[in-house]
Amino acid sequence: MNTAAATAAVAVKAALPRRNLDALQRQLFIYAQDLRDLMEQQTLLQQRYQLVLQSHGRNTQSADVLLGAIPKTIEQYFVTDSQGEIVRASPGAQRVFASGGPELKGKFIWQFIHWSHLEMVTKLLAGFVGVGATGALEQRKLVMKDSATQRNIIYDALVMPVRKLDRLEIFWLLNAEVQSDLSDIENQNLMLMSSDCAEGLLITDADGLVCSVNPAFSKITGYSGADIVGDNPRVLSSGRQGTDFYRSFWTYLIDAGSWTGEFFNRKKNGHIYTEWKTVRAVKNESGATVSYISAMVDITHRDSEAQQLADLAYHDSLTGLPNRRLLESRLTQAIANASRDGTNFCVMYIDLNRFKPINDEFGHEVGDQVLREVSARLQTTVRQSDMLARVGGDEFVILLQSPVSDEDAYSIASSVLNALNAPIQLADGKILTIGVSIGGARYPVDGDDVQTLLKNADAAMYGAKRFGLEFSFFETGNTVHPVADLGFEIWKALERRELYLLYQPQVTPDRTHKLRGCEVLLRWKHPLLGDVSPLTFIPIAERNGAIVALGYWVFETACQQLRKWQSGGLPHLSLSVNISSRQLQDPQFTERISHILLINGIHPSSLELEISEADAMQYLQDGRSRLSQLREMAVKIAIDDFGSGYSSLSRLGSLSVHRLKIDRNFVRDLTQSTAANAICECFIGIAGAMGMEVTAGGVESKAQMDLLASQGCNLVQGLLTGKPMLADEFLAWALPTERQPSESV
Ligand code: C2E
Ligand code: MG
Repeated sequence: MNTAAATAAVAVKAALPRRNLDALQRQLFIYAQDLRDLMEQQTLLQQRYQLVLQSHGRNTQSADVLLGAIPKTIEQYFVTDSQGEIVRASPGAQRVFASGGPELKGKFIWQFIHWSHLEMVTKLLAGFVGVGATGALEQRKLVMKDSATQRNIIYDALVMPVRKLDRLEIFWLLNAEVQSDLSDIENQNLMLMSSDCAEGLLITDADGLVCSVNPAFSKITGYSGADIVGDNPRVLSSGRQGTDFYRSFWTYLIDAGSWTGEFFNRKKNGHIYTEWKTVRAVKNESGATVSYISAMVDITHRDSEAQQLADLAYHDSLTGLPNRRLLESRLTQAIANASRDGTNFCVMYIDLNRFKPINDEFGHEVGDQVLREVSARLQTTVRQSDMLARVGGDEFVILLQSPVSDEDAYSIASSVLNALNAPIQLADGKILTIGVSIGGARYPVDGDDVQTLLKNADAAMYGAKRFGLEFSFFETGNTVHPVADLGFEIWKALERRELYLLYQPQVTPDRTHKLRGCEVLLRWKHPLLGDVSPLTFIPIAERNGAIVALGYWVFETACQQLRKWQSGGLPHLSLSVNISSRQLQDPQFTERISHILLINGIHPSSLELEISEADAMQYLQDGRSRLSQLREMAVKIAIDDFGSGYSSLSRLGSLSVHRLKIDRNFVRDLTQSTAANAICECFIGIAGAMGMEVTAGGVESKAQMDLLASQGCNLVQGLLTGKPMLADEFLAWALPTERQPSESV
């Protein structure tokens, strides 16, 4: 950093503590974030284990420090990287998980986690990576397997991300907690006795979690001990016996101490079987239940005819899918589970748009072929935990059983649409397209009983159909006008030509107000909702990936417009285009941008890409990144909303950034707050010393502009000097003395 920059940097630090608490907090955050995260994690640890962790010096940035702080009494812990590879294991963990065998280091945590918990753990790690590992900490019940004996142990696990230099490490602190009250000897004796027993035996603890099973149980159900220990026997449920059945089963068992009767359960391979079962509660000396033992035999063969009839009663004969009856029973069960666990789930109603005309025109045989094909395609889109049912002629329902976010639902609806919108080729070579409408209802917000959920999913589907949408969630009190789901609609916006661009002038802050460039701002006019703000739809498009396609459209349309303007009287005008990090992840980004510039005859130096501070640090540091390649072609890079993030000016300077755009919040406070004033001055001073230009955004008053001009700001943009305008309007504004013909594209 040269002298001017250093002086200005000192001025920033001097100005902040005195004048502006917000700015001070932001700056402090830059220096202290890592330290604070670590201390938060330590505090939580302290609460959980009621152990005093010593405080640490300023350089405490890694798991090593935490390891030093863990008392020797906590024997089992791992440190893994973000992929789950074990980089360190305590001797206690080594003893339990490798039984004195080979080193755990280098192995993956996945092989020690029970299969039923794999998905949960994968999501957990993905979440840590996603949030940048700042202070998140999770406490979970985790079933883990000892690799030598395959014994399952239920742990109370504390899982936390820890930053080590620029790497993420995950710290797993384990505490074996859930154990059966049966003593080991009792358990061993029982299992010895049961290993030769012809009846299936299953032992649970008082909470109903499986502690052990015998070989006959595994033979009947297909579940080995490793599969099921630690789970609730509910995994066996076939859905044929509703909540009333289970309620009376438990009432009887608790009152009488034992129960005998028939269960319809599902094997690991999905087949339903009938078991004759006795369940007995085992009590300790003081009369408290410590365990349940179930003995069972498979009696399916005794009533296979009845079974077939039952299958017919619960399944659709054309497609083999569960019918409405079975769906309703599953829904009842899903509601009971979700209400007990405080979770949610979603029901999707799917209707084929052109099935009736196809059936009428080509006959029932063709109709049946279409339905079988649709059912086969739908089965490829649902997850293993979901249920697909056919509930009417051309109506299907998907029950997304595990907790789902709206995003998950969009993504499944999107796969359903992809699957069903592809043409169907019939046996005689005929090709048909059917089209589909989907409505979604979420438990509990859109209904908390079976009939309401199905009715509302159906209403949402009709709403979607009526408004020409392909998917809609149910909106309470708004069945006639379902609100479009933006995540879904944004994909369609391009094709329906609902997007357009505005251009906002960037001018010099002196009296001449010379026009130098314009920022391109994307707009979306939705047919039902009207104008949707980019602050709403851009983050959605970033999350679901639509931003990549939208971004190229913005870029192409703006370049075509610029070419017209440059050859029509504004030869020196340049374009500032906003770019999100998701766009930079597209491998084609550099090629496509250079191609669009080339075919429109635009010199790369007329283009400026506006990216956020965080993205700039990430994408400019690596010399091989797409941004660096473009910068080498003379495309300029501007850091948007500078000051709202936490990057340091000196690092930005070393990355050849061309321009800083000062966050409009600083500009807003410029004339009222001496701190904001000092900060702007410092930004402009340091940027100038490092060869960067500065644009101030959101300039609304002459006082703000004059102050910025006196501080040496290069360009201003805001309502004072020019609002965002349509292309025609912009040209008329830029060349006020001449009357221009329509030039917009
Ligand atoms: P931004 O890049 O900071 O854009 C400047 C925003 O300030 C625009 O909001 C503009 O309309 C608004 N603005 C302009 N003059 C004034 C003023 O004097 N006072 C105030 N208070 N605001 C002013 P807009 O158009 O709503 O855009 C919001 C954000 O959406 C943009 O912030 C940008 O991050 C994003 N965005 C807009 N178009 C695109 C695009 O094509 N691609 C991407 N990736 N993001 C875009
Ligand atoms: Mg911008």
